[in-house]
Amino acid sequence: MRLVLVGGGHAHLIVLEALAKRREATLDVTLVTPSRWQYYSGMLPGWIMGRYGDDDCRVDLRPLATQAGVHLILDQVTAMNADRNLLCLGDGRHLEYDLLSLDTGSETNIEWLASLSDRLLTVKPVEQFCERWRRAFKQLAGRERSRLVVVGGGAAGAELSVAVKTALSAADGECSVTLVTGNSGLLSGHNSMVRRRMQSALEMSGITILHERAAGVEDGVLLPGGELVEADFVIAATGARPSAFLAQSRLGLSDNGFVAVDSFHKSVSHRNVFAAGDVSARLDDATTRSGVHAVRAGPILAHNLIAAAKDRSLRPYRLRRRSLYLLVSGPDKAILSWGGLGAAGRWVWRWKDWIDRNFIKRFRQG
Ligand SMILES: Cc1cc2nc3c(=O)[nH]c(=O)nc-3n(C[C@H](O)[C@H](O)[C@H](O)COP(=O)(O)OP(=O)(O)OC[C@H]3O[C@@H](n4cnc5c(N)ncnc54)[C@H](O)[C@@H]3O)c2cc1C
Repeated sequence: MRLVLVGGGHAHLIVLEALAKRREATLDVTLVTPSRWQYYSGMLPGWIMGRYGDDDCRVDLRPLATQAGVHLILDQVTAMNADRNLLCLGDGRHLEYDLLSLDTGSETNIEWLASLSDRLLTVKPVEQFCERWRRAFKQLAGRERSRLVVVGGGAAGAELSVAVKTALSAADGECSVTLVTGNSGLLSGHNSMVRRRMQSALEMSGITILHERAAGVEDGVLLPGGELVEADFVIAATGARPSAFLAQSRLGLSDNGFVAVDSFHKSVSHRNVFAAGDVSARLDDATTRSGVHAVRAGPILAHNLIAAAKDRSLRPYRLRRRSLYLLVSGPDKAILSWGGLGAAGRWVWRWKDWIDRNFIKRFRQG
């Protein structure tokens, strides 16, 4: 049976790990993903601040695929027809499957910001962001004055503001960083203690916070009152939008265009299609899009793909009400957020560093 995994995301790392531990002779598995490197977004702020090198925060999919006996195709899916079990790849090739699993993440929503063109850096895809940030940093480092705007009041927006401010301040120039959170404010999904702590960490770093909605213009962002915040670069951490290829895929989609799945992470429209991580939307429950959910769904996805191939019973992935978030709030500092609880300090950073490094190590060792 031909199983195709699309996207080297967090859940598929776990599927590859499971296949490496126990190969399934009846399965002929292919992974289609654009890059051999899968970046771990949780380590991106640390990478920007110079705490991590490239190899500290990315997984090389090549050896992992080899160990799992999986054929790796470095390309992306540009179109699919789920009624015909058919995928179209970027190089024009077609790929047929019997069983499909999607873990392609999401794209950054750049509605309102698109007119910034070259000045706009979107956080997704992460590998592309890293490349563009590297170039932007070279351009800005050492300049007498640089101006950066980060748009997005979620965890990624807050963490990236701190990270870019730290990196540019260490590069000997004067730099202004403005975080534009939108109307829902800073860290709206987190408790008030965490929100307060992050706000004061950002203010102490000298970051200006604006609780308004920004529209991109040629040389910066425009606020609703008509004020222009000029920027050399604008980083968009504005939340998730679905990949374009899903719209015409014939798959059942949620209202906002993600792959609609049940508690087994099986498509509600096609019984031979599974999806996990940001690309999926659970119709039985409201989930936030996070790496934590993608990782936790991984073992269940691995089980269900093998079970589906063998016509065995599937297991549900039970969502947890609370997830642990460790948010970077400064050089070697982080804030813990867990339901109604919050804490901050260097120990939180050390804990986060330990968890993140171990996650990467797990896939390096195979
Ligand atoms: C700065 C930052 C910090 C974050 N920190 C945290 C955190 O601390 N904790 C947390 O839980 N979440 C965090 N997140 C959110 C987290 O990044 C996402 O929720 C998580 O990456 C989702 O994982 P995924 O497996 O769905 O997709 P991804 O990790 O995005 O992986 C998707 C994969 O699919 C590939 N792909 C995409 N399109 C195609 C295509 N058409 N064809 C083939 N392959 C394709 C991509 O190249 C990639 O390999 C953070 C996000 C950012 C931006």
